[in-house]
Amino acid sequence: MPCEKKPRFLILYGSQKGQAQSIAEGIADEAADHGLVAEISCLSRHEEYKLERESAPVIFVVSTTGDGEPPDTTLKFVKTIRTKTLPSDYLKNLHYALLALGDTNYANFCNCGKTIDKRLQELGANHFYATGHADDGTGLEVVLDPWIEGVWDAIKAAISKMASTRDTPLKENLSDMAKENPSPTSSPHVELNRLSLADNQTSDSIKDSKLTLGGLPSPEVTGLSSKSDVAAAKSVQEAQTDQTGEERAVSEPSLTCSLPSLSQSSLNVPALPPPYLEVALLLEDTKEKLNSSMHTETFYEVPVTNAVQMTKGDSVKKALLLELDISAHPTMTYMPGDSFDVLCPNRASEVDTVLHRLGLQDKRHHCVQLAVRRDTKKRGAQLPPHIPDKCTVQYLLTWCLEIRSVPKKAFLRALVDCTGDSVQKRRLQELCSKQGSADYNRFIRDTSLCLAELLTEFSSCTPPLSLLIEHLPKLQSRPYSAASSTLRHPGRLRFIFTVVELPACPGRPEGRQGLCSGWLSDLVTPILVRPGTPESSCGQALPPKIHVKMRLSGTFHASSDPTAPLIMVGPGTGVAPFIGFLQQREIERRNNPDAVFGETWLFFGCRHKDGDYLFREELEGFVSSGTLTHLKLCFSRDAVEEAAPAVSQPPACPRYVQHNLLLHSQRVSQLLLLHNACLYVCGDAKNMAKDVNDTLMEMMRAELKLDQLDAMKKLAALREEKRYLQDIWG
Ligand code: NAP
Repeated sequence: MPCEKKPRFLILYGSQKGQAQSIAEGIADEAADHGLVAEISCLSRHEEYKLERESAPVIFVVSTTGDGEPPDTTLKFVKTIRTKTLPSDYLKNLHYALLALGDTNYANFCNCGKTIDKRLQELGANHFYATGHADDGTGLEVVLDPWIEGVWDAIKAAISKMASTRDTPLKENLSDMAKENPSPTSSPHVELNRLSLADNQTSDSIKDSKLTLGGLPSPEVTGLSSKSDVAAAKSVQEAQTDQTGEERAVSEPSLTCSLPSLSQSSLNVPALPPPYLEVALLLEDTKEKLNSSMHTETFYEVPVTNAVQMTKGDSVKKALLLELDISAHPTMTYMPGDSFDVLCPNRASEVDTVLHRLGLQDKRHHCVQLAVRRDTKKRGAQLPPHIPDKCTVQYLLTWCLEIRSVPKKAFLRALVDCTGDSVQKRRLQELCSKQGSADYNRFIRDTSLCLAELLTEFSSCTPPLSLLIEHLPKLQSRPYSAASSTLRHPGRLRFIFTVVELPACPGRPEGRQGLCSGWLSDLVTPILVRPGTPESSCGQALPPKIHVKMRLSGTFHASSDPTAPLIMVGPGTGVAPFIGFLQQREIERRNNPDAVFGETWLFFGCRHKDGDYLFREELEGFVSSGTLTHLKLCFSRDAVEEAAPAVSQPPACPRYVQHNLLLHSQRVSQLLLLHNACLYVCGDAKNMAKDVNDTLMEMMRAELKLDQLDAMKKLAALREEKRYLQDIWG
């Protein structure tokens, strides 16, 4: 039998936390369903691809990190294509599509994707499909799903076009394939702004489960493929019918229950991600190996020498200050403005829930041995690098997997096949389907529902451990900003945080705390100094210890020119790095009494002057010593305006930091535009940083008499010059 050669294409991904990689792998996994062969590689593996000679279409999936920087794995690639000596037709043979991932809560949305795209164009490369810009801030899938849905026809059209210039047997295969899978148009869809979930593109990438309910037509008519599908559909109807046969009045959908039309709709369910891991559990004594686990190689274990509650008991949020003793690790140095990572474990109670639901409670101390399945259909399948060679089940669930992560649709799809109850099965199908997108967002994404909560609600779902390892991301360490200077606190590192509270919601009967902030808060309870009690160190008690690692130095540092004015905007815990800046400045002033220092402005805001005014005494001390020349305060809930004022009008009583900025618009603008000032913003990314940015734009517009576009350019120029810097957190 002749061996038929399937047309190939290449997928290159640049991932920081695994998101772009998993999307790229998802595309690769679907390729076979479209009669294509996908080769997949990380952009960092330069030896595996040659773009200038690539004869197949290439798909790039790249994320953006930090302040618009490429992921670490993509830095070298970006540098290479930026080489100035490359001729403008260097990539003229390259036909590519690019999917950029980003988050509009942060500056420079999708910057890495945009940079690569622009440079590829400059080097003569050709788009075969419009670039997608997916926004994690509003839900990647809004752009992602239709982009992937449309890409298959575009790849086939591109292969066809590229092959038409060559005379190969491939061409015949393609024309056969085109007959089987006619493309809706001969040219690819290139206007991505047309993409929406309502787009009426046919897709064989998505398995059409066609679970039509309601009248329950016969399997032949509806496409219900088996007796069990019919049973599932029936049982959904039965579940909404009470014992007397009356229809149950379900007025609101919930996590586990849908309403018509969704409950009666045919579903487009994603293809089942091919399983690729085999897990063996061995009864071994692994304790010794675990003690020298991979984490301790990169993180330092340091004692918490002080813990202070900075807010009053009745405050909306509880803010804590912790002090770490880093003196035993001379290489652990930092500057004010730097941040560091804290390693935190998953909650023991949640690990227990998962262990029970997996039926592994008696095997928690067994050693996990992983292997890639020989028969896997997943391309480029490999062992996850974040799972140590030998670890117990309990260790894996405690330290390696982000069990709190929001289950993705592909994971829900995989869970469908591990669910016994047909009603629950159908609901999981709905939640991962195209039609159930709104319910997915409402009950899973927006509430940050986690696996343990999902498994509690879907009681007949019992996934194997391998599925969790395949679908849950690596447990990430959590970043915090330093709130101290080593000039003031040698050998110490201080930081502050609020304890995140997630409210109860459908699927979460009781609220819960954020993983790391809740864990830290519990850990320091024995040594915590509460308001009104005298500050003391932990005295006799053994201080708790945590694992930390400094982050590679960023750009959020005070200007090296002490005469440059500093304008700092940091409401709430966003004030953290500025405490470090001011501690440093105070000591520099003391050590250099004749030196000239620029003005320092701090715009701070909190809810109540007497409740959550963080570092009050220290800030007042900076003002008295002249280190802080202007402290501009606002208390959002002490004197609340009837309605938030328009951005261009400063309110009589400023509520938020941006209102104070407006009140001092003239001076702040002068400092920025005429005196080389640097402006720093730290704190909440979602609302505050955006509103402050709008206000700054408004200030530029008013002070310089510019139109909106030029004001925007002015701010962009300040960013470029590193005189407008943000350290913001979502
Ligand atoms: P917060 O929730 O941001 O609240 C601080 C003040 O800002 C409150 O008075 C609040 O007023 C006000 N505010 C609300 N919306 C605003 C807006 N659109 N513009 C300006 N001000 C607004 O303070 P937080 O609890 O301390 O949280 C700060 C954020 O920064 C968190 O997201 C935190 O994760 C992040 N952060 C993290 C680090 C770190 O080290 N990882 C460091 C600093 C900050 P109302 O509530 O009365 O509206």
